[in-house]
Amino acid sequence: MIVKTDAIVLRTRKFRESSKIVTLYTREHGKMSVVARGVVRPKSKYGSALQPMAFLSTIVYRKEGRDLHNLSIAEPLERFNVLSSSLERLSAGMVIVEIVEAAMHDEDRNEPLFDALLDALRTLNDVQSSEQSVVLWFLIRLATILGYAIRTDECGVCDEPIVRERLPVPYSISIGAPLCAEHREVGSFRTLSAPTFDLLCELSRGNVTDAAMLRPEERSVTELGDALNAFIRFHVEGLRRLKVRGISAKVLDDMVPLA
Ligand SMILES: [Zn+2]
Repeated sequence: MIVKTDAIVLRTRKFRESSKIVTLYTREHGKMSVVARGVVRPKSKYGSALQPMAFLSTIVYRKEGRDLHNLSIAEPLERFNVLSSSLERLSAGMVIVEIVEAAMHDEDRNEPLFDALLDALRTLNDVQSSEQSVVLWFLIRLATILGYAIRTDECGVCDEPIVRERLPVPYSISIGAPLCAEHREVGSFRTLSAPTFDLLCELSRGNVTDAAMLRPEERSVTELGDALNAFIRFHVEGLRRLKVRGISAKVLDDMVPLA
């Protein structure tokens, strides 16, 4: 079956002499692995199109029941030149595509996730955006899309509204919600400082363009990054294997898997 679909490259690895296996996240079929033949030859028809984070129009020969398909055509739809010219932006983009690769099963179509992934990469390509805010926004969005919404308004145990007193907020990792004074000792929780909890509230409300304009303190980026990592690793099976060590303010590549 011939499939024409927009796709984002998650990962590439060498295959035999001159080919590559490319993991794509496609709009029509979710995650798919394809063989790109002859791609490492100087005159390859793919040129330099098959790099992680590339946004492509593709034609794939899809073989029913197989987990490896053949890539026929891959043409760039947009080029993210700003993203690829900065190490910080590249690292942030790599974190995002590697998380999608680890979190998603093959051929599990999820258009909202495709759109969130594309939004995140486009926003990273905007020189005004904060790459850390984009990564944090994406983690929150991913959790929501996969059915583990991150709540901020009510206690995760009794649904009482959380009264904000500029004090640190206990946040349940298993439930994904803040805890009231009465239920603060329930299960595993992280204590989020008031500015970190504010950041979580703003990021979970807004779209990626608004999120990317936030300039959070280094401490809040680390605190929230650690809590979100713990949350999604608790819920999303594929991410348990990923050795995510947390987002430090400068070194986003800490989150790149070590395996
Ligand atoms: Zn409560």
